[in-house]
Amino acid sequence: MTAALDADVIVVGAGMVGLTAALAMHQAGFNVLLLEQRALQPEQAVADVEAASQQGFDPRVSALTCASQQIFSALGAWPTMQALRVSPYTDMDVWDGQGTGQVQFSAAALHEPCLGHIVENRVTVAGLCQALELTGIRLLTEITISTMRQHAAGRTLVLDDGRELTAQLVVAADGAHSHIRQLAGLPMCEWDYGHHAIVTTVETERSHQTTAWQRFTEDGPLAFLPLNDGGVNQHSSIVWSTSPQHANALMALDDSAFCQVLGKAFEHRLGQVEATAERYAVPLRQRHAQYYIKPAFAVIGDAAHTIHPLAGQGVNLGLLDAAQLTEVVQQAKQRGEDIGSVTVLRRFQRVRQSENLKMTAAMEGFKQLFGQQNGWLGLLRNTGMHVFQRAPSVKNHLVLQAMGLRGALPELAKRPVKL
Ligand SMILES: Cc1cc2nc3c(=O)[nH]c(=O)nc-3n(C[C@H](O)[C@H](O)[C@H](O)COP(=O)(O)OP(=O)(O)OC[C@H]3O[C@@H](n4cnc5c(N)ncnc54)[C@H](O)[C@@H]3O)c2cc1C
Repeated sequence: MTAALDADVIVVGAGMVGLTAALAMHQAGFNVLLLEQRALQPEQAVADVEAASQQGFDPRVSALTCASQQIFSALGAWPTMQALRVSPYTDMDVWDGQGTGQVQFSAAALHEPCLGHIVENRVTVAGLCQALELTGIRLLTEITISTMRQHAAGRTLVLDDGRELTAQLVVAADGAHSHIRQLAGLPMCEWDYGHHAIVTTVETERSHQTTAWQRFTEDGPLAFLPLNDGGVNQHSSIVWSTSPQHANALMALDDSAFCQVLGKAFEHRLGQVEATAERYAVPLRQRHAQYYIKPAFAVIGDAAHTIHPLAGQGVNLGLLDAAQLTEVVQQAKQRGEDIGSVTVLRRFQRVRQSENLKMTAAMEGFKQLFGQQNGWLGLLRNTGMHVFQRAPSVKNHLVLQAMGLRGALPELAKRPVKL
């Protein structure tokens, strides 16, 4: 590291993706500085989650792929996450609420223990914070970045208290409304999905059978994601994507009426919905940065792209961004290249932008296909689901891809080969 620099790499944003990037860069031998605007206390994170877990589940959960699990294992976060609470799911059942199409996926058919894990976001952050604690990575919290300058040595961030922080590479992982992406002047393509997602935890009459359920309703997808309640498995996290008007009407219902309407929309697959925790409505917007890089600057995670949650891929893509960027700059360092050069950073952009755009296009296609209530598209959808269900090799290929066990993966996300 040049003496004048504060770090090789500054990561902005200590969410799931930023924490992962900081840990991966540290493991790759870089001197890392992590900046977060919130009052995050990594040493407290596990105890805080343990206390909060007594009260219930975090309404924000993510379906994590096997590739994401591998990244967390490689960075030392997974054991803490497991100890706190993760919910493996073994099956997935997807059906068309407006027809007869149905597709089922099963871990057993793939000789895998599970298809993935549903994990509360606060558990993931706590696992990563615990790993961070062991590394000595410097973390500055409650900071506000005012401006950013580019120069021959890299970039300098100027904080509102006048402090200046310089690194060879600045990584923006500060979420969908990324301030630093705006400071860098990276243009975005974005539009509304015309959906709001209602998220909460519900209790059902019957066990979820460690299955992730998704019904495509006339207004949008409704997912029941199984939660490990340590007992009868009657808790699920729901994500109900629907029109803003419908979402507002659902939010206005009292708990008992909401449970009834939800149970009906879900065709009572798990019996009655018996209780609900507090509900939150989140507007869904698709965003994609036209470029992920500038000299000495890269953008990853939600700061680079947000997609519809219907396939539960958002943070999984962000974690792969973090792992891929680390791999590219590590290789560049070994070759004696400047890690902030556009030539180097383009290697990251080439891989991740095309992978993320493929997933974005797939989500858009699903949303359009299932948004059609009748006509040829409805027929095509129904027939397609029947054909897909009866084609195990195609189905298994796609599900292995979605689980992060196939496709273009950075080394950190690959399972170690068993000898
Ligand atoms: C309803 C819903 C369901 C979802 N389900 C899934 C799922 O099942 N699976 C999945 O993979 N994904 C899912 N996602 C997507 C997933 O939640 C996001 O992709 C993920 O949270 C993004 O993480 P991140 O670290 O990139 O950003 P964030 O979580 O937004 O973290 C950004 C961090 O940066 C900090 N920050 C912000 N601004 C600044 C600043 N100026 N300076 C310093 N720090 C700053 C913030 O405080 C925060 O800590 C879902 C999303 C929604 C809305």
